Amino acid sequence: MKGSNTIGGYSDILIGPHSIAFDITNKCNLRCLHCYNSSGENIVVNNELTDQEVLNFIDDISKFKLYRFSFCGGETMLRKELLIECTKRLKAKGTHIVSMVSNGILIAQETAKELKEAGIDSIKISIDGSSSCTHDKLRNQTGSFEKTISGIKNLLEAGFNPNFAFTPTSFNSHEIKEVHKLLIALGVRKGTLGTQPLMFLGRAYRNLEEIKASNLQYRKLIKDIAEINSTDTTLKVTWGDPIEHLIRFRTISKHCVDHCTIQANGNIVISPYLPLVIGNIRKYSIYEYWNSGLPGVWNFNIPKEMAKSVLSISDMNKESNNMPKVFEEESLYIDLIDDDLNDMDCIEKNLNVI
Ligand code: SF4
Repeated sequence: MKGSNTIGGYSDILIGPHSIAFDITNKCNLRCLHCYNSSGENIVVNNELTDQEVLNFIDDISKFKLYRFSFCGGETMLRKELLIECTKRLKAKGTHIVSMVSNGILIAQETAKELKEAGIDSIKISIDGSSSCTHDKLRNQTGSFEKTISGIKNLLEAGFNPNFAFTPTSFNSHEIKEVHKLLIALGVRKGTLGTQPLMFLGRAYRNLEEIKASNLQYRKLIKDIAEINSTDTTLKVTWGDPIEHLIRFRTISKHCVDHCTIQANGNIVISPYLPLVIGNIRKYSIYEYWNSGLPGVWNFNIPKEMAKSVLSISDMNKESNNMPKVFEEESLYIDLIDDDLNDMDCIEKNLNVI
């Protein structure tokens, strides 16, 4: 590997990543207005790993007893049979937590039971309103609210304690208290209702005018969250920061990052929000990348410099930064094993190829 002098020794301490996020598919049964990765119509969707490639990857990675493996998407339930088989294999080999995200629409009674039996530990369901009026508008599909609520009921009945995600926008941010109330009324007694600022990427970026919440709306939301958390301790509302990892990884934790994100086409990315791919599991195995510097990848100049320009959500998709648009255009491909992630000229060369 070129430029490897900055990462020596880390793979001796950790034999593999502790946690992996894997987009099992980028296909989706919805076209939500706020979808940061434009699922259903992005650049990855026609080149996804085959079932066999996914199973090979799972067998490869599960030997190392991960702490957490998360199935992301796209809508994960569009590859339900594969997800169930992967989960069984991960759990059989000792993976501590297997989690997944879903919009809940396809979680019928029987499906919820199958997921439980397969060993899924944790499920996060998106809910973006307390009624069909707001949820369906953001989810861009009439009837999606009813189906998601039915999915939540089925999960509760099967014994899950689901977590939830709520994306605040100009037309739903005032509903957080109502959404919380609704979930409690459905019988939710544990877990989190997570929320964070809208990310200026993918379809969200294209629909920004219509959906972006104002500063005042964000302030009101933060106040509502504090009020909910001071009166209820069963379902905690959390406020996340989508930029934080970009700052932390390139500064405090750059010497050893134990997390890894794999996209549906096998691309390995250092952050789902940067247009930089540093390898592909079709080319080399995840362990070849791991042993070639993946845990110390944030020591290299290119990841650090690219992350430096993103200090707020509004920096995520600047028209002026001359970089490919995440999930809409081919990202820069600078391979950790074959290329030199310290050589800033690689960015220019890559852009010229594109
Ligand atoms: S936000 Fe989720 S459910 Fe909506 S289009 Fe994107 S992946 Fe699909």
